[in-house]
Formats: sequence, C-alpha cells, structure tokens
Amino acid sequence: MRQKQFKAESKKLLDLMINSIYTHKEIFLRELISNASDALDKLYFKSLTDDSVGMSKDDFYIRISLDKDARTITISDNGIGMTADELENNLGVIAKSGSQKFKADNADSADVEIIGQFGVGFYSSFMVSKNVKVVSKAFGSDEANCWESSGVEGYTITPCEKETVGTDIILTIADSTDEVNYDEYLDQYKISSLVKKYSNYIRYPIKMLYETSKPVEGKEGEYETVEEDRTLNSMLPLWKKQKSEITEEEYNQFYKDVFYDYEAPLRVIHSKTEGQATYNALLYIPSHAPFDYYSKDYEKGLQLYSKGVLIADKCKELLPDYFNFVRGLVDSEDLSLNISREMLQHDHQLKLIARTIEKKIKSELLKMLETDREKYEKFFDAFGTSLKFGVYSDYGMHKDELADLLLFKSSHEKKYVTLKEYVERMKAEQKSIYYAAGETVDRIEMLPQTDAVKDKGFEILYLTDYVDEFAVRTMMQYEEKTFVNICADDADFDTDEEKEALKADNEANKEMFDLMKEALGGAVQAVRFTNKLKNHPVCLSSEGMLSAEMEKVLNAMPGNNGVKAELALEINVGHPIAEKLKKFYAEDQETLKKYAKLLYGQARLIGGMSLENPGEFSNLICELM
Ligand code: ADP
Repeated sequence: MRQKQFKAESKKLLDLMINSIYTHKEIFLRELISNASDALDKLYFKSLTDDSVGMSKDDFYIRISLDKDARTITISDNGIGMTADELENNLGVIAKSGSQKFKADNADSADVEIIGQFGVGFYSSFMVSKNVKVVSKAFGSDEANCWESSGVEGYTITPCEKETVGTDIILTIADSTDEVNYDEYLDQYKISSLVKKYSNYIRYPIKMLYETSKPVEGKEGEYETVEEDRTLNSMLPLWKKQKSEITEEEYNQFYKDVFYDYEAPLRVIHSKTEGQATYNALLYIPSHAPFDYYSKDYEKGLQLYSKGVLIADKCKELLPDYFNFVRGLVDSEDLSLNISREMLQHDHQLKLIARTIEKKIKSELLKMLETDREKYEKFFDAFGTSLKFGVYSDYGMHKDELADLLLFKSSHEKKYVTLKEYVERMKAEQKSIYYAAGETVDRIEMLPQTDAVKDKGFEILYLTDYVDEFAVRTMMQYEEKTFVNICADDADFDTDEEKEALKADNEANKEMFDLMKEALGGAVQAVRFTNKLKNHPVCLSSEGMLSAEMEKVLNAMPGNNGVKAELALEINVGHPIAEKLKKFYAEDQETLKKYAKLLYGQARLIGGMSLENPGEFSNLICELM
C-alpha cells in the first residue's frame, strides 16, 4: 500500500472544495462523466487501430449506480483505466487543463466562482463526498488498484480486485446539514435530470438502473416496483437536428459543455452543405480568447466526425491559422472512419470542406460587422491580432481575403474604423491612406507629425497593436490607395510650390546640415528642414523599409537585438529654431553641434523612443541654460 500526501496546490484546491459554499455543487457529476467520456474516447481511438482492444463502438458506456443505504453513487466506465502510477500522478496532483488556470491565478483566493468557471475536474467530487474511492484497471494491465481519500490528510493506493478494464468512481455522499441537502445526490430523479442538463450530448450511453412501479399483469389496480436499465442521455447529436428545433440556450449549453468555456459564444454558425462535399458544420466564435490562446500550447482545430462518430478531436487542417479561434465540429458522410492522421492531411475531400468552411466563417464575420458592430468590436478586441497576423504571414498571400475584416483606431473619432469606411471618407485631393504607429492612441496624437496632417483634414489610422504596421506594409494598398506612414520621409502633403521652396531652403543650408549630421555621429542618415510640422520644432522620420516603431517591436523580440531603422532628423522650417541654427552655423559652430544633439534627443523622446545617452543629454541642457 502507498500512503501519500497531496501536493501543496492540490491540497489548497481540495480544501477549497471541501469547505466550499459554492451553490452549484451538482457540477461534480458533469465533471466525472466528462472524465469518463474522455477515458472512453482514449480506448475507442485505440480500438480503431489495435485489434487487441476487442471492442466496437457500441460496447462503450458509462454507468451510474446508486446505493441509498451505503450512501454511495458510483460512476463507472469501461474506458482506458489507470495504472497505480497514473492514479498517483493524475489524482495526487492538481490536473492540467482548466485547473491549471486556477493554480496560476487563484491558489490563494477562495473565490468560489472559479469552481464554476473552470470546471476543476475530479476534485469537485469532494464538494459532495466524505470519502472518494477510485477503483481502476488500465488497458493492457492484469492488476487493478484502489485510490482512496477522505480529504486533505492524504490518500492511499492499494492493489485490489477488478475484473474488467475501466474505472469505478465511488463517492460516499456527505451527510445532509441544515444548509445543504446532500441526500438529493442519492436520488434517481435528481441524478437523471442532472445528466440531461449537463451531459445530454455525451457520445456514449450513460446508463442507470431505474426503479419504477408498474401495474402487475392480470391483477387490476396492483403495482409492483421493477428495475429497468435506462439510458439517460439523448446522444442525438445537436448538429443533426433542424436549426428551427434548436434553441439558442441549447446551442450555447452544447458549446460550454463540449469546449469547456464558461461564457456563451459570440456567434453560432450552423450549416448543412451538400454538393461536392456533404457535411454538417457547427461552429462557434468564442466571446473571449482562451487563457492559453497566445501561448504555443494553443492548438487550433475542429472536431471531425464521420457519420456522427468522432474521428479527430482537433483537426487542424480544417482551419486556416488566422481563423484559429473558431471552435466547433464538422460531420461528414464522405470520410472513412479509420482514416489515419497522415491520410487526413492529404484528403481531397477534407481540403474541399476546409475551403468552404473558411468562406463561411469569413462571410459570417462580415455579416456580424455589418449588423452588429458592437459585437464585432468585441470579437476584434479578442482575436483581431490573429487576423492581422494572417495578413502578413505567408508573404501576404491572404491579405485580400482579410482586408475587409480589419479594424483600426483612427483620428476621426478615435474609434475603430474599417478600411472601407476610411476610403469612403477620403477627401477628393487625398491620395493616400495615412497612418501612424505608436503604443497608444494618446501617444500617437502627441507625435509632432500628427497635427499638420489633421489640419489638412486627412484622417489618420492609429496603429497601436505591434503587428499593425507589419500588416499594413504587407497590404501596401487598399482599393488602389497606398498606405503612407506620416512619419516616413516620403509622406508628402504639399503642393509643388511648397516642395520647391523647401528644396531650395535645404540646398542653401546643406553644409550646416552636414555638420549637424557629423555631430550626431551616424545616429541619423540626414538632417534637413521640413514643412510637415505645425508647432513642433523637430521630429524623426524613417527613411528606409523600417519605421522607428517597427524598430522598437523587432528589438523587443528575443534574439533580435540591434535592428536599426534608418532615420532622418527633420527640423520645422517655420519654427524660430530654424533661424537660430543658421545663426549659430555662421557664428558659433561648437554650439550648433550641441544643439544638434539636443534636438535629436528631443525628437527621440517625442517619438516615444528612449534616449541613447541620457547623461549627455542632461548635461547639455544644463550647459545651455
Ligand atoms: P482534467 O480532466 O482536467 O485533466 P481531472 O482532475 O478531472 O482533470 O482528472 C485528472 C486526470 O485523471 C485526467 O486527465 C485523466 O488522465 C485521469 N482520469 C480522471 N478520471 C478518469 C477516468 N474515469 N478514467 C481514466 N482516467 C481518468
């Protein structure tokens, strides 16, 4: 016998369960049934390729047994089972999936809402039990083991007898108190209604012996109690029903149960397609990103069924990366049941399905954008980054597909706009789509270049997400209008005369600028006058492919230090500082050099960059004061 302590986090979670005042204690049943169903899936998948399992689809089941006298409810499955080591590793420590979130965020807080939100799995049995026994025999093993615990003190694992492969979870239900009626978990009506409520679409039959009274044959008016074996869940796949027969509540509950989300989805897409590919699809757009969405652990994919039978849990071939947030399932008549993973990748039928699904998702998103802007913006806040990645990945192959789904903040009302809305509002004389990049809308509004463009009445897109500018550069154009960074040297809003005048000014002062550039020791490619600033004295413009904002983003990525944008220091030709510089060039070139450094530092600061040499900058200010 192994006598063991729980690991520290498990102990905390367990303690929380035992002392929980959580009102939905009943979810323990859902959790145990879904574990049983997972265990059945595992053995079922094995049976597809391994004849030694010796079971077919209809042999798998879950059974619930009640014993009022012993106060026990037993949830049995003939799934994959657990060895002694697995019992220890799976049940002695806090589990992976949903509860990981609990571990990370809440191990110290007794926030009971967490229980409902993340479905803390097996440990939820302790909300209703005074003793929990798990008797299990793993597939491929001759011996069975019993894991047993009465709470935080610890648990034991002992070899025991069990004939068949699978797991029995035996809960001894707690005694009822003034506050909580635990007895109801020993009641067949209650249990059967809980199964219907939470586990109706579990793909395996959930059976229970049901006591009913029946008239005795031949004896009028006399009844006897008989036991009947009933299957409690309907198992009829929701997606096979007619749309008109399904309520919103049913769609949402199915989503929550199958995809482990506590929030209802933003949109449901239920479609039947016939023709080249015949399939049912039930797809969901979640209302928030799952906690691991931006980690490399996140796996995209849809469940894939063949004639109502699950053949892959996360078929990634069905979704393009930029729609990786979509959850749901596809059920097709055209796929063979024992198709292998390798074959799936090359399956022509599957590719066809994937293409139509992608089109469907796109058109539903566009519909949402047109008819429910608020919802769409919520969607975009959660998953917009993925769409923008989609624009610039694969060398921009999908940019035209995705352009109309994008939103950017803009100077118009500082709200989200689509590119279409932007272009529709463009002024007659406006040639390009203007944008500026920065950390926040407020920061971009403070950029020296912003005022002048706004003064001309041109709208500016405010790119605040780190992928934004990469996406925009990949698109290059939208409806034949070129994207132009207002901080780039070729951004041009001037008339020809204005341009000529500026050019003359710059040529006349060329030597002064060369001297300033030299003083800056290679930090900039050029120094020159500009007339695109309204009130500000200076700014930095990017000369080449990389903007200053992109430099920041790239350098923030691991292993990418020292990327440099090519910059020009531009000085407002209409600002008094311009005359001052000319004066110093004529009379005191040493001071001019110091001014060059100061102006460069100022330009970096106002552009949201850090100073390369803050000490020197500070000393210079004092020196010139
Ligand atoms: P989760 O299901 O989120 O992983 P649980 O605490 O509910 O967390 O379960 C922990 C692990 O115990 C499961 O991942 C599974 O490996 C194992 N397990 C639980 N119940 C069963 C069962 N009925 N049959 C086989 N393995 C099970």
